[in-house]
Amino acid sequence: MTQIDDERLGLPSASGARLRRHCLGQHQLVTELRKAGKLVPEPPSPAAKSGNVIHSAWAGNPEEELSVFEASTLDILQRLEKMVVTDWCQGLPCEVLGRELRLYLRKGIMPIASGALDVAYIQYEPMRILILDAKTLTGQVDPAHSNDQLRELVALTTQNYSEVSEITVGLLRPNVAERTSLSVYDQLECHVALAMLFKHLEEIALPNRPRTPGDWCRYCQALPFCPQAHAYASEPSMELGLQISKGTLALPIGHAGTELLSKLLAARPLIERLTSMYKALLAQEPDALPGYHLRPGKQVREITDILAAWEAANQVEGFDLAAFLSATKLSVTKLEAALGKATGRRGRDLRQTFSDVFGEVTQMRTDAPELERE
Ligand code: SF4
Repeated sequence: MTQIDDERLGLPSASGARLRRHCLGQHQLVTELRKAGKLVPEPPSPAAKSGNVIHSAWAGNPEEELSVFEASTLDILQRLEKMVVTDWCQGLPCEVLGRELRLYLRKGIMPIASGALDVAYIQYEPMRILILDAKTLTGQVDPAHSNDQLRELVALTTQNYSEVSEITVGLLRPNVAERTSLSVYDQLECHVALAMLFKHLEEIALPNRPRTPGDWCRYCQALPFCPQAHAYASEPSMELGLQISKGTLALPIGHAGTELLSKLLAARPLIERLTSMYKALLAQEPDALPGYHLRPGKQVREITDILAAWEAANQVEGFDLAAFLSATKLSVTKLEAALGKATGRRGRDLRQTFSDVFGEVTQMRTDAPELERE
């Protein structure tokens, strides 16, 4: 893998729009680190990897067999796409403009930024474009009307399709309660988005742009190397330590509490990223950190073929199905997907069938509340 994603050419990409808005110096630092050969690509997390697999399959380029969860997510995604496109077309013909289509913003002939459209549709006379972006994870995402990434995609599309009179952008989120979020840009708003992007790119290209740490740092490639993020993340421990030594430890509330919590949340990904970098270092240079070494990972027994396991268990006298099942845990999502496969039902129809079959043995569990930033 090269350090710079070939398609992006090392230029600002719409996927980093939110990060760049919060931290004007972010792109410069990433560029410097790349030039110095310090940015080693990190393997995607399992959730991000699964998201990539779903995106590829959605674009019609399946890379590998989908898990039951991924297949179910893809199914919902395709239905959401159909629903939104049908509504957007208003009964008039439309065609697919592209899938996984990367557009470039140019100054003269030079590309200066880019962004990828997951899928886009187009209508002519007047030219209208629909851009849909899938978010398969459940994390917080700004709604379409205030989403920086979508606004930059509008800007890129406006420059590339100068005849466009209206662009609709939409988020499709198969795994959260609010599955769609749409926003319409009229022609004037499209050109405002384009002007804003040019201005922003000029702003981040100025020398010594400030780096402003915050909870967005967790998405920044430069996080392990950023002195401002390190300082920001280490403040809470100093503050708390001071209070403990004075015997006056009390959690601040109000704005002071919000600030402290933001710093604590920023510290967590920094610690995780630095720890994993140290692990990688020890794997290559076992003597690099006196007092630390890599212990071999634990070996854990696992059974992947449950049917074969039951057939084996069934040979044991006195070991009945109830005893066997007491050692298993059913995933409702996977069970519903399996029911869909067996019955050929999908969507609402499948939900209803699942409820008919398993309703009496299904109960709702409420997980612990999670922190969410407004
Ligand atoms: S880690 Fe945070 S402060 Fe540092 S460059 Fe990235 S976004 Fe900016």
